Amino acid sequence: MATMESLIGLVNRIQRACTVLGDHGGEGMSLWEALPSVAVVGGQSSGKSSVLESVVGRDFLPRGSGIVTRRPLVLQLHKIEGQSEYAEFLHAPKKRFSDFAAVRKEIADETDRITGKSKQISNIPIHLSIYSPNVVNLTLIDLPGLTKVAVEGQSESIVEDIEMMVRSYVEKPNCIILAISPANQDIATSDAIKIAREVDPTGERTFGVLTKLDLMDKGTNALDVLEGRAYRLQHPWVGIVNRSQADINKNVNMTSARQKEIEYFESSPEYGHLAHKMGSEYLAKLLSQHLEVVIRQRIPSIIALINKTIDELNAELDRIGRPIGVDGGAQLYTILQMCRAFDRIFKEHLDGGRPGGDRIYGVFDHQLPAALKKLPLDRHLSQNNVRKVISEADGYQPHLIAPEQGYRRLIDGSLGFFKGPAEASVDAVHFVLKELVRKSIAATEELKRFPTLQSDIAAAANDALEKFRDESRKTVLRLVDMESSYLTVEFFRKLQTEPEKTPNSAGPNADRYTDNHLRRIGTNVTAYINMVCDTLKNTIPKAVVFCQVREAKRSLLNQFYAQIGRREKEQLGKMLDEDPSLMEKRETIAKRLELYKSARDEIDSVAWK
Ligand code: GDP
Ligand code: MG
Repeated sequence: MATMESLIGLVNRIQRACTVLGDHGGEGMSLWEALPSVAVVGGQSSGKSSVLESVVGRDFLPRGSGIVTRRPLVLQLHKIEGQSEYAEFLHAPKKRFSDFAAVRKEIADETDRITGKSKQISNIPIHLSIYSPNVVNLTLIDLPGLTKVAVEGQSESIVEDIEMMVRSYVEKPNCIILAISPANQDIATSDAIKIAREVDPTGERTFGVLTKLDLMDKGTNALDVLEGRAYRLQHPWVGIVNRSQADINKNVNMTSARQKEIEYFESSPEYGHLAHKMGSEYLAKLLSQHLEVVIRQRIPSIIALINKTIDELNAELDRIGRPIGVDGGAQLYTILQMCRAFDRIFKEHLDGGRPGGDRIYGVFDHQLPAALKKLPLDRHLSQNNVRKVISEADGYQPHLIAPEQGYRRLIDGSLGFFKGPAEASVDAVHFVLKELVRKSIAATEELKRFPTLQSDIAAAANDALEKFRDESRKTVLRLVDMESSYLTVEFFRKLQTEPEKTPNSAGPNADRYTDNHLRRIGTNVTAYINMVCDTLKNTIPKAVVFCQVREAKRSLLNQFYAQIGRREKEQLGKMLDEDPSLMEKRETIAKRLELYKSARDEIDSVAWK
């Protein structure tokens, strides 16, 4: 029993938390709706608000003739330990009301705030929580009374509007209907019974309450109704005697009103035998007991709903990104995590798994060889140019055995052409890498919410690539320079031992400027340059990969890491700025998630004891 009591209290707390988070209504079934609540329905002035007050045991509702209740009042009763009693409104969460007359005034004022002082209605509920040691845990909803005609100052549609509003509450399968009918009216004309029968034909969630027993005509009684003969419901009817208007005017307090009610039944010749099953206190107990049963039945479906919602909220959070901590350490951690995520994707582009890395091989396999092929070596090593270069190198003293200087100049000149394609390879790879950085940033889901961090990482990565490019350029140029700084001796030794192939030549020095001699020099230099070309075709890619690709994989963000490691919390926060509406949305989801999780834990711990 004690555990059940706390279970109802728990459901109440969850409902309260739901309302604070605005988690009622909306699309789909919210947790709030999955939890049972009690709606008070009936015709105007049938005594709905009075019953509600009696159940609570406090005066706090505006009451009287005409349409007083014009907005739904969602009233949550929380049983607490101790002596103090207070009320809180959702619309004024910081304010604690301990004076219940002030609560009544606030309800009236808050009603007017939305509807104006007119007799209009609004379906925006007022949420009120009462914390007291004298209440049972319950959620009750006071609704505007059903009417038959619009009065002066009301729109024609008000009759239907009220009915629709009431229906929207009572048609929910988890709503327990407290159907209030005045005893001084024929039960067959009861608005409460009419609507209850429509939405709950089997009567399993309808509690019939008969008010104003004291106002019945002398000589008549309500035993036919109270004993279930006039209109049969699954739950027993409860008769009530609330305070009359005269009592209210005389400020008869709740305690003596309840006492009077008990006395009324106990001393009544007609109802005496039913006395222990009549009155507001009994009604409160009956409702509470029923609520226990209902909650007990609903636990599996409530837990299922909670689990489903938790999954949905988690998915949503994953989509928009998890919340980040506010302290510097957490921020730094978050930034590093995102850098790592980006780095991982970048590496996948290079190592495979994602496209783009193959374009680097394309540079080495197509672009570089094609550029090398296009070099104007033929022109440089044409007979005329060979003659020109060699005679210039010889000066006034022509060479004797072989034109050593001439060879050198021809080779140096040819090698110079290799710088262009070498640098072009460096640049081409640089642009591929840059493009991969761009792609990787776009593909890093976690980064999507942080535009500032995105551009910070892009800038840092591009800076690093720029540095790698400089290094790479120096290295490939050096490779070319190295080729001219020391020639492969072996190659030339071999040349000398080979005999002149041209048959009409008259010995080594017969005519050093003959076409044959020049052609032979041209052929030799071409052969040497081709050899060097083959070497560079292999070594330039090695240098480029070493300086740019390998470095990009190893240390693309190293500089950035060092920078942010020195940053203050404030600067880190700036890097993590994001769309405020997104932040707000995340916060709500996170809070809701928190609520659902703790609800699940609590239900688990209470329900299966
Ligand atoms: P609501 O419009 O259904 O909320 O009805 P109220 O609770 O405001 O009550 C309407 C009027 O009927 C008030 O003046 C109450 O004092 C009076 N009233 C309600 N219940 C009883 C009752 O059991 N006996 C008597 N004598 N008057 C009642
Ligand atoms: Mg009322």
